[in-house]
Amino acid sequence: MARKQESVCRLCRVERTKLFLKGSKCLSDKCPVERRSYPPGEHGRRRRRILGYGIQIREKQKLKRYYSMTEKQFRLFFKRAEKRKGVTGEILLSQLERRLDNVLFLAGFSRSRGDAVQLINHGHVVKNGRKASVPSMLVDKDDVISFKESAKNKSGVQDAMELNENKAVPGWLDVDRENMKITVVSYPARKDIPIPVEEHLVVELYSR
Ligand code: SF4
Repeated sequence: MARKQESVCRLCRVERTKLFLKGSKCLSDKCPVERRSYPPGEHGRRRRRILGYGIQIREKQKLKRYYSMTEKQFRLFFKRAEKRKGVTGEILLSQLERRLDNVLFLAGFSRSRGDAVQLINHGHVVKNGRKASVPSMLVDKDDVISFKESAKNKSGVQDAMELNENKAVPGWLDVDRENMKITVVSYPARKDIPIPVEEHLVVELYSR
């Protein structure tokens, strides 16, 4: 998780997209993107035309910020995706979506991806019966993710479960809320990843 000094809500406003970085606030009418749908700053309301390279940069920043990654981490994911056969942009998205921290967030066991990183870093998460301590680790089909007994009653996890009680979970994950267990039933396809990004522009940017 990248350390950010600036307000995370500002990042959403810059990208004009809800990046869901702030837990319950993101689902409330207090979300600044809902209230002020223009970029921050003195000239935020002015219409700015962004072209070519600028658009590619914005799409990359949006994706990187959505998954709360540093430039270095993001580039590493891109390089891995590039080596695989298939459509690089879609492979990149699929791999980002399969990050362990993202899976905990999607399943509703954390309020944000940042909280999921904390849970993993503090050793509360188990993958296939073994402690999982790397947030960027990818999950695979048939993997089972659960929590250590001592973590199940943690207020942060319980609060997240309450907040996300009615959250729709993507079809590639099976979530057993009672036993606090996630099973990966398939790999996410592009249609399963709702982020409004044109990933081919990110590929074009890095292929320059
Ligand atoms: Fe802030 Fe969340 Fe709204 Fe983004 S989506 S502006 S992080 S409240």
